[in-house]
Amino acid sequence: MVTSTRAIALSHVGKVRSNNQDSGYAGETLFVVADGMGGHAGGDVASAIATNRVKEIDHAYPTAEDAQMALQSALLAANGLLAETVFEHPELTGMGTTVSALIRVDGKVALAHIGDSRIYLLRGGELKQVTTDHTFVQRLVDTGRITEEEALTHPRRSVLMRVLGDVDSSPEIDTWTTDTLPGDRWLICSDGLSGVVKQDVIANVLETTASPQVAAEKLVRASLDAGAPDNVTVVILDIDRDAEGTREPVTVGSASMPVQFEREPSSTTRALRLPALRLHPARPATGPTHFEPQTDDYLDELIEEDQRRARRRKLTWLLSGILLLIAIVLAAVLGYEWTQSRYFVGESQGNVAIFQGVQQNLGPITLSHVYKQTDVSVHGLSAYERQQVEDTINASSLDDAKRIVKQLADDSSG
Ligand code: CA
Repeated sequence: MVTSTRAIALSHVGKVRSNNQDSGYAGETLFVVADGMGGHAGGDVASAIATNRVKEIDHAYPTAEDAQMALQSALLAANGLLAETVFEHPELTGMGTTVSALIRVDGKVALAHIGDSRIYLLRGGELKQVTTDHTFVQRLVDTGRITEEEALTHPRRSVLMRVLGDVDSSPEIDTWTTDTLPGDRWLICSDGLSGVVKQDVIANVLETTASPQVAAEKLVRASLDAGAPDNVTVVILDIDRDAEGTREPVTVGSASMPVQFEREPSSTTRALRLPALRLHPARPATGPTHFEPQTDDYLDELIEEDQRRARRRKLTWLLSGILLLIAIVLAAVLGYEWTQSRYFVGESQGNVAIFQGVQQNLGPITLSHVYKQTDVSVHGLSAYERQQVEDTINASSLDDAKRIVKQLADDSSG
């Protein structure tokens, strides 16, 4: 990792995955994050190929519009390279990558974006996402089917609608230009950060940490602290009035390593491998991110699945509500029956009485009533016994209550 005072790229494999399929680049004018995916050993290859291709356009541009055009054609060229690579290595079929890139041209930036990596701008203490996720859930949000909140936990949140890869020869890439001001801080990251660390936490780190490097380290740390289920890559660029001085471009993640087309058991056996051995079977997908081709049928199917899920959820809520109600009523009935199996002795209209129930009341509900009024007057009792009767005397059973009354009657007449 090489650092400068103005920009930084940092990538971490995370805590769950065995390899890093992200790539990141902080160059002279160009800044990139690519997040690869593929059921086969293709994700790291895809992000590395795309990043290395886009790196070729890291130089000064006369205008931001020129830079925008350069980005557009570099991403399309990267898409072509990925298709060629899959053609030569069919075992990589289905690999793809997101790319979110930015080129600075004086007081402007040109941006290019496809997939669900993100570009944020911190300006005046406020962090704003400037890219739109090309995900299925973002579609649902855009069309008002679910809320942003629901999107965060949606089971299909990792389904991408657009990526670079071997599926579409002319993928739809978002490109645009915008102004940038001294003091602006740009963040490009993979979903290993944005999908794991809350935006206000990211904003707080970026706002309170002057050094881009320290800020990047803190963001990666925050993702690791949250379990880092995915590779996490962070590129930060600070826009300052001052000249930038010399800065070595830095590449991180899979693009920082030689592209390999197979999993190597160990580097020492690499030279001995036979070509046939390279076609080993697919490893299981190590993470949830995947690309699913964007067809209307497919989208309809996903939307229908979402509606089914919503209906199921509603039904589940209704059933649990009914069950809860039954449980409460049952508890109340059983509880009341239990109180009515209890007896105590107390005073009623000047005489000793046997009460059925318990002395305590439940709010306005009285849980006891006179079971049997006796002709034993409390005034005939000794002061001590009268006090006891007024305070009520617990009985262990109806017979016990009768025994207590008899005792009081005997004492009173004796
Ligand atoms: Ca990812």
